[in-house]
Parts: sequence; C-alpha cells; structure tokens
Amino acid sequence: HHTLGERITDWDERRAAVLNSADNTEGSNQPHGKRRILMVSGSQPKPCDNPKGDYFILKNLKNKVDYCRLHNIDIFYNTAQLDMKMSGFWSKLPLLRALMLSHPEVEWFWWMDSDAFFTDMKFQLPLDSYENYNMVVHGWYDMIYEKKSWVGLNTGSFLIRNCQWSLDLLDAWAPYGPVGKPREAAGQLFAKYLDGRRKFESDDQSALIYLLLSQKDKWSEKTYLEHSYFLHGYWVILVENFEKMMEKYHPGLGDERWPFVTHFVGCKPCHGSSGDYAADRCAKQMERAFNFADNQVLEAYGYVHPSLETESVEKVQVEREAIDTRHTNLRVEAGFDVRI
Ligand code: UDP
Ligand code: MN
Repeated sequence: HHTLGERITDWDERRAAVLNSADNTEGSNQPHGKRRILMVSGSQPKPCDNPKGDYFILKNLKNKVDYCRLHNIDIFYNTAQLDMKMSGFWSKLPLLRALMLSHPEVEWFWWMDSDAFFTDMKFQLPLDSYENYNMVVHGWYDMIYEKKSWVGLNTGSFLIRNCQWSLDLLDAWAPYGPVGKPREAAGQLFAKYLDGRRKFESDDQSALIYLLLSQKDKWSEKTYLEHSYFLHGYWVILVENFEKMMEKYHPGLGDERWPFVTHFVGCKPCHGSSGDYAADRCAKQMERAFNFADNQVLEAYGYVHPSLETESVEKVQVEREAIDTRHTNLRVEAGFDVRI
C-alpha cells in the first residue's frame, strides 16, 4: 500500500510551535502584513518529446516569474520526480506535502500547471475571503454535487493551506494515483462514477471531485469553489477575445473581461501528440496568451508586441515631455533631489 509518507496527526500544533518560537523571523516579516504565499509549479525531469515543448515551458516559467516578482510572491519550481509512483499530473501531491512540512512559515501553497499562464498581471487573489477555507479551486457547486461532472472543478491552479486538514486531504487523495493497478482501477471507477469522464488512467482532478462527492462531510465544507474570477480559465473560451479585451478593458479585472489565468487544458505542449487539440492551434494560442501577458510587463519599460502574433517588440512612442515628467516623478518618489 503506497502512501506519501509517515502519517502526521499533530501538524497544526507543530506548525504553531515553529511560528511562535522566538527565533522565527520568517513568519513575522511578511510584506504589507500579508499571509505568505508560495507559488509552486513544475515540469518533467527530462526534455519534452515535442521539440517546442521546452520553449513553451520556458515562456510559461518567465510568465510566472514576472507575476511573482510584481506581487512579491516566492516561487518553487520542481523538475525532480520525488515519488516514482506519483508521476505526471500526480507529482504535485508529494511535492506539496514536502513543501508544507519544510515551510511552516508559508500559509498558502498555490499550485499552478506549467500550461497555465497569468494573463492579468495586475489582479491579486482576494485572500481575505478565503479565511474559513483550506482549499480554493476554480469550480461550481452544481456541476460537482448535482451533475457529478468531471470538469466541475479544475486542478490546474489551486490554493491549499498549510495545515493538518490539507495533509489529511493529500493522504486521502494519493491512493488513486500510484502508477500501475491503482491508477488503472481508479480510472475505471471515475469513468463510471463521473459525468463526461472517458476511460483513461486516473487523474488528480477526477479524484478530487470523487472525494468531494463520496466523502462530502469530510472535505466539502473547507473547499471553496471560486468562479467570480478566473483562478483557472479555460483557454478555448478566452484566447480569441484578447484583442477585444485590449480595446474595451484593462488589467486588474481577472474575469472574462481580462482573465487572470489562461490554462491550456488538453494541449499537452510537452508530450508528443497525446493532446485533445491540434498542436498548431495550441502553439499559436499559447504564443498569443504569453504576448498578451508580456505586454503588461514590457509596458513599464516602454516596449510592446505590436501584435499578439509576434514575439518581436517595438518601442512605444512617448512624447519627450511625458518621459521627462515621468523621470522627474520617479526621482521625487525615490527621494532624489530633483534640482541637481
Ligand atoms: N508536471 C510535473 N512533472 C511531471 C509532469 C507534469 O510537475 O513530470 C506538472 C506540470 O506542471 C503539468 C501538470 O503537472 O502542467 C499537469 O500534468 P499534465 O501536463 O500531464 O496535464 P495537463 O496540464 O494537460 O492537465
Ligand atoms: Mn494543465
């Protein structure tokens, strides 16, 4: 019987003891009094089968680095296979557990897939509204609890709190993941039990929905289903509209007007050809999503991609006077004596 590790039952107490200890400087030096978040992502240890896969992984990581730098969030990117049985999309489970135990100072771990791009560089998580929850995942109540839909939530971008409840959830979640018989059997079970789920090896998303349904009393209350903004956004309904969004709206909204996250579900950029969509379509749209986000980064330096279709950039034409004013303002803000 495969487990994620030795069972732990007193994590809340142990964590509190670390946070309250005199030599804990990590817990107290949080910027702006915010609870600490660690962004977690990763990709396979080996080069991608698809020759352009590693290029997209690099662009995606740059996109995450940009968002995290702008919002003062630390990032952990994993390329090691920590548990040989928990490969592929299951690798986030042993990783999150290891990080939880090694980083008691972190309150929230934020998993994000390597095929999920930030497309709103300004939007921030409404962390205060998650006070009473231990997990936050993009989803809808009726799709899960009434329709039993396997796409009722998406595990490509979610928050999990550093606490005993979460360790328990990971322990309950993991048995559906080990390669071989357990993964095959769980795949069959989910195909039977969940609406719209084809027969293939078990995935972490189906398993989480299965847990919410079959052990509702245990997991449902503390799992927040977010859909007021795109914590995860399905790329197919978003990518054609980027130009319209740029005409009508602005970053910071996070919803369909300017999606926070655009996730290339079913694209499998790293794998050969096992995806649900044509590889060229995925590649073209990933490029566009990246450039859409990159424009929000480059703006501060006076550059822009003239079209979302091109990786090249142009200097933004700014009036000389505007530059001078901005420069002066920056110097004032930075505390320089502007008369010199
Ligand atoms: N992943 C990982 N290590 C691996 C394989 C996958 O960290 O060896 C991560 C990667 O971030 C990926 C996520 O797991 O985006 C989900 O896996 P996969 O790409 O197979 O599924 P999809 O993103 O298409 O749902
Ligand atoms: Mn994904």
